[in-house]
Amino acid sequence: MTDISKSLQEVHQRIEDAAIDAGRSADDIRLLAVSKTKPVSAIREAHAAGQTAFGENYLQDALPKIQALQSLCLEWHYIGRIQSNKTKEIAENFAWVHGIDKLKHAKRLSAQRDEQIKPLQCCIQVNLSGEESKGGVTPKELPELAHAIAKLPGLQLRGLMTMPDPNSSSEVQSAVFIELAQLLEKLKTSGLTLDTLSMGMSGDLEQAIAAGSNMVRIGTDIFGARELR
Ligand SMILES: *Cc1c(COP(=O)(O)O)cnc(C)c1O
Repeated sequence: MTDISKSLQEVHQRIEDAAIDAGRSADDIRLLAVSKTKPVSAIREAHAAGQTAFGENYLQDALPKIQALQSLCLEWHYIGRIQSNKTKEIAENFAWVHGIDKLKHAKRLSAQRDEQIKPLQCCIQVNLSGEESKGGVTPKELPELAHAIAKLPGLQLRGLMTMPDPNSSSEVQSAVFIELAQLLEKLKTSGLTLDTLSMGMSGDLEQAIAAGSNMVRIGTDIFGARELR
């Protein structure tokens, strides 16, 4: 067994244990393998071990990998910051985008998505840690943005994404995850059909699953530590 397949198995076990603790089914929780900075060979190994969804956040690194692995029919998720001049490449190469926080970007992605293929699946990023430097809308701005995005033909709004401050305590991280879950419920009550809570990384997947996450984004604990970039 390779290191990556062993790590994947361990992550699946953590998801399973966290689901049981939360009285949930692990089948309802998707694992997104975050392969940013990792080579094509590592992604092939993960795929050979059964992983099909991969997250990337540096567009220029991701595009050659997506090209090289086209024959595997992987599901690519863009989890990085969105820049206006990059929306076309995102719309053309990814199945999902997790970090939408501006209507301007959403409109561009929608217009640039090929009508012949499935709409781009997307999550709005919410900033619940109050850090100015982080992306994401405030809870106050969220309802208006969500209803506007839900009307765009090239996008399918699936839910919400957040990233707690990695330096905060596990209690604070839990509170952030619970708040995101409540915001999703409020949007559903307001008439939107949403099903995705994208939250939980290597260090906090248990808290995220306890709060209702159904898509965890795991990099380090599958592929090992990253080189600083
Ligand atoms: C890097 C990254 C992850 C994965 O983080 P790990 O701590 O390595 O599991 C998840 N989500 C986003 C948005 C990231 O940029």
